[in-house]
Amino acid sequence: MSALATEHKAVNLGQGFPDYDMSDDLIERVNEAMKKGFNQYVPMQGYMPLREALSEKIRFLYNAVVNPATQITITPGGTYAIYTALTAVLQPGDEVIIFEPAYDSYIPNVEVNGAIPVLIDLKFPEYRIDWSEVRKKISPRTRMIMLNSPHNPTGSVLSAEDINELRSIVTGTNIFICSDEVYEHLIFDDIPHQSILKYADLLERSFVCFSFGKVYHCTGWKLGYCVSSAELMSEFRKIHQFNCFSCHTPSQVGLSTFLLSKDSYLSLSSFMQQKRDYFLQLMQNTKFGMLQSRGSYFICATYDRMSNEGDKDFAIRVTREYGVTTIPVSVFYRAETDNRVVRFCFAKKNETLEAAVEKLAKIK
Ligand code: PMP
Repeated sequence: MSALATEHKAVNLGQGFPDYDMSDDLIERVNEAMKKGFNQYVPMQGYMPLREALSEKIRFLYNAVVNPATQITITPGGTYAIYTALTAVLQPGDEVIIFEPAYDSYIPNVEVNGAIPVLIDLKFPEYRIDWSEVRKKISPRTRMIMLNSPHNPTGSVLSAEDINELRSIVTGTNIFICSDEVYEHLIFDDIPHQSILKYADLLERSFVCFSFGKVYHCTGWKLGYCVSSAELMSEFRKIHQFNCFSCHTPSQVGLSTFLLSKDSYLSLSSFMQQKRDYFLQLMQNTKFGMLQSRGSYFICATYDRMSNEGDKDFAIRVTREYGVTTIPVSVFYRAETDNRVVRFCFAKKNETLEAAVEKLAKIK
């Protein structure tokens, strides 16, 4: 869709990347690190002061004690952290529960390890997990459950009840959890983020994956980290050591001091909520039916008042004829399930959102 957007010079609310500037302060810190000579490899686990700053942030936010030496590894992005976690534990024939719509790397990452994705639809239109369905799909071969909150593409978030259901399913089993929390902090309406880090019993069996790129508005940096138990992290590092080994040093040095200020992460949810609210307000001038977004960069919408086309056809036509690009949500399902929903990314400048909505309002 991004290629089509470029071809038609459309306003691109499809792909999930901000078009506004990231923090000048963080850029300064990274520049400073380069000038001071932090330009060589750091240890395989990541720059220690950054891991210490993360450990302190995790203690402050989730009241969890995470050892920076043994439980945190810096990675080249969240996607890599997820891939490495899966590769550390999966054996051919293992089953992995994946909720759809799903971020596009999960299924290929499972399959490249010879494991089998077991797909469960989130309940439309709230995109909630149906835990009775999960119970039915658990088998002796279930090795892992993939979670993602706040969720891409829908903006749904896990609740405390979801965590209780999860716990009742995995307790007493050998099932691992991979929790994709790359949109940590980008959660709205004062809802607490149900990080797996809050739950020591679940962290024992989990890999929790994060992205600096997503939360600090610099997706091109491709820097993230994984938190796990010391035992699982040692398996994770066996893959990481011979794959990436060491991540970009100056960014780690810059982030290590930037993160010491709590405002660097406490300010993020209100910043992004303002974007969501502004976009919602603008979209009242259109015939889209806005679904709920509680977090992430994204909000989904139905378009049945304007068209009965399939979502791909609709998204392509809107790019070509009206000059706005969205993502058809059927692409996040292996079976291309089409609920006639498209995804918008609202992590954009107000002018970009305004320009897009002015065009979208013309669709009759
Ligand atoms: N998980 C989800 C759900 C995402 O939306 C993204 C980014 N599109 C990632 C992981 C990957 O993050 P990164 O760019 O740090 O690899």
